[in-house]
Amino acid sequence: MDDIVNVAKRRGFVYPSSEIYGGFANAWDYGPYGVLLKNNVKQAWWTDMVMKRSDIVGLDSSILMNPRVWEASGHLENFTDPLVDCKKCKKRFKGDDTDGKTCPECGGELTEARQFNMMFKTHAGPTEDTASMVYLRPETAQGIFVDFKTILDTTRNKLPFGVAQIGKSFRNEITPGNFTFRTREFEQFEIEYFVKSALEAKKVFDEWVKVRSEWYKGLGINSANLRLHEHPKSDLAHYAVTVTDIEYNFPFGFSELEGIANRGNYDLSQHEKFSGQELKYFDEETKTKILPFVVEPSGGVDRAVLAFLIDAYDNEKVEGEERIVLRFNPRLAPIKAAIFPLIKKEALVMRAKEIYHQLKEKYFVEYDESGTIGRRYRRQDEIGTPICITVDFDSLEDDSVTVRDRDSMKQKRIKISEIEEFLEKKLR
Ligand SMILES: [Zn+2]
Repeated sequence: MDDIVNVAKRRGFVYPSSEIYGGFANAWDYGPYGVLLKNNVKQAWWTDMVMKRSDIVGLDSSILMNPRVWEASGHLENFTDPLVDCKKCKKRFKGDDTDGKTCPECGGELTEARQFNMMFKTHAGPTEDTASMVYLRPETAQGIFVDFKTILDTTRNKLPFGVAQIGKSFRNEITPGNFTFRTREFEQFEIEYFVKSALEAKKVFDEWVKVRSEWYKGLGINSANLRLHEHPKSDLAHYAVTVTDIEYNFPFGFSELEGIANRGNYDLSQHEKFSGQELKYFDEETKTKILPFVVEPSGGVDRAVLAFLIDAYDNEKVEGEERIVLRFNPRLAPIKAAIFPLIKKEALVMRAKEIYHQLKEKYFVEYDESGTIGRRYRRQDEIGTPICITVDFDSLEDDSVTVRDRDSMKQKRIKISEIEEFLEKKLR
């Protein structure tokens, strides 16, 4: 894990938030390459789950919502963790992390457990009374449920169909940690997939477990590092019928990357009850009204980014020297290509910059003329750039360049006029 944290910081992927003030516990910033990687992960999800499917539409709902939403969803009452305090050293622990009697740090006596709600609270408007209290959403899902009827009325969707959303959520975790794995502010990619019956939900649930596992593999995650974990009934959240996690083999052990939950029709029925609005779907076939059942594949964007980063990391010996390389799937690589003049001679620099400016219209690319060509390759390997393009003296004669592949380090000559086509194929 240290290797990952180091390369992430050194190369500007992820670093601690508010560092000049000594940082802020468990808050992280995505630097210039990190934000590109994260955007690419989100874009890949959006492309594969929304654009390429005809049964899913998108949504971007607000973070601050009517507080009644959280009453209906059960989060006000049930989204809690038991907390205990040590009477001697005054430290606070999650109840599950102790034996319930003695302090794990000093052996002192513990208080009775109290329920602690993990939603962040704030106030909307200038008065800070209970009437103005609002919550930062702890999941993006409720925005979808609350808008379900409007989405039905404004599109021509027929069941089964899904609504997809990417956005920030907030949980006042008692024990955050493991780098970006568990943070209080995090981003989710969630789909609520609506079907006609509980039976259909069961079938669709299995399909989603498969679709989502394949998605991670398709983008380069080694299948040996993935496994499924079915939650025992006793562990389930208040809304869930069944949950299967896709777990990734993080350096701190297999942990949840994404959860696929069969939520039954709990959420929609609760919102019907609390809002007094009918949220049913009229089924043309049977001429009956249905309250749809829901299957939810819910992934953490930050966790996905971390998993892709860890899985891509490789450290090998090349000609007696250490080579650190991030073997990202080209779709996820922050920088798609780097363009170099072989040496800093004006004619080469000009030609290389021409190619750079041309490619920059379409791709995130870099230009680099400093240091030996070997050093420049290493710099690009370390940020996972799939292709390096070098302009040399022959280029001025034959209008060709040398392209070098990140993974095989093999080089070949291609025509300058063919670079775009070459990249397009490579990055698909
Ligand atoms: Zn203690």
